Amino acid sequence: MTIPSFTELGVAEPLRRSLEAEGYSEPTPIQIKAIPLLLEGRDVVGLAQTGTGKTAAFAVPIMQHLLVGHEQRRPKSVRALILAPTRELAIQIHDAFRTYGRHLHLRSTVVVGGVGQSPQIKALAAGLDILVATPGRLLDHLKQGNVRLDAVTHLVLDEGDRMLDMGFIRDIKKIVAAVPKKRHTMLFSATMPADVEQLANSILHQPVRLDVSPPKRTAENIDQRVYFVAQADKRALLATLLKDAAFERVLVFTRTKHVANRVAQHLEKAGFAADAIHGNKSQGARQRALERFRSGEARVLVATDIAARGIDIDAISHVINFELPNEPDSYVHRIGRTARAGAAGIAIAFCDPAENGYLRDIEQLTKARLTVVQGKQGPDAPKPERDYARKTPFRERSARRNNNGRRRAAPRFMSTSQSP
Ligand code: AMP
Repeated sequence: MTIPSFTELGVAEPLRRSLEAEGYSEPTPIQIKAIPLLLEGRDVVGLAQTGTGKTAAFAVPIMQHLLVGHEQRRPKSVRALILAPTRELAIQIHDAFRTYGRHLHLRSTVVVGGVGQSPQIKALAAGLDILVATPGRLLDHLKQGNVRLDAVTHLVLDEGDRMLDMGFIRDIKKIVAAVPKKRHTMLFSATMPADVEQLANSILHQPVRLDVSPPKRTAENIDQRVYFVAQADKRALLATLLKDAAFERVLVFTRTKHVANRVAQHLEKAGFAADAIHGNKSQGARQRALERFRSGEARVLVATDIAARGIDIDAISHVINFELPNEPDSYVHRIGRTARAGAAGIAIAFCDPAENGYLRDIEQLTKARLTVVQGKQGPDAPKPERDYARKTPFRERSARRNNNGRRRAAPRFMSTSQSP
């Protein structure tokens, strides 16, 4: 199949110039499918993960519409509204709009929690062409009368599955109710569970469905390896690996905030520049950590799943699963941070015997075997692993395994001291 050019997809000149300047020589599959449909004004529901180029797929047509639209910007009003689940993702989407729209004169801002409201109130007061926001903070502004959504013509929900996982459904419904019914709507999600499907059906008008992520497979150009190692020996193993200069920019995943902090502290002590990023860190600290990582000042970033979702940093050489995720989908998201836009990448998993069940789930989902670098998959450890059971929503709990790696019958409230 010959790949169409951005011109053939209908992208107008000032936008094309920015895409060229970014080095986008050709559109990605989601862009090829979505851009013409969105330019036509169709509602779209896209099954696509971060890393597929989906931001440009919706940002470019929206800006092209805003350019030719006749609606004037009015005080406190918004023309295009993009909702994202996390602060990092919202900031990243806003950066993308600014990059792709650098030759246009569209006014935009990003509104997220964890930072002062005053500059946001000021930016909203002037009226905006594009607003990227997390649902909670936007709702605060809406209630306080700092913004009105009755002039919204374009509405995007990004990472729909993660929004629902994070409990935003009611906020989203309230926001959508404040937006005119006649609008152009799009929803993107990495997975399509029933609740996301339901949301899509309730807010989209005869949407076209696009699926660009074979969700059960992981990127072919990622070299996936596993070290069988006891939990207690993982930090030492990480420090040993980092002595190799090939580990240039390393994203390390843990399941909990607590372990993320401990790993980052241990690395700092061992002489490796490292930061931790998770939901308990202030917005400022998270942005600083991302900046240090992006610039190369910090070689290692230790993150939890939610904090890292959507992080778009080029040239991550290695993703290390310091702890395996209890949901195999998360593994696919995690390792997708490396090997972006065609580059090769390496994903390494540290597997304690108590995590054998998680590894089996991952290999079953991805239909791929990880290359064993060290150790063997010993018998599953009988000891309970306290971290696994902490503050996990019921939906996740039900998919979890017990310490023998067998699927649990999912009692609603199970004490960690109970023997499996
Ligand atoms: P996204 O899925 O929107 O987060 O994009 C993932 C990465 O792909 C970002 O670093 C984009 O800059 C990059 N990207 C988006 N579109 C293209 C393209 N057509 N060619 C090359 N890289 C792209």
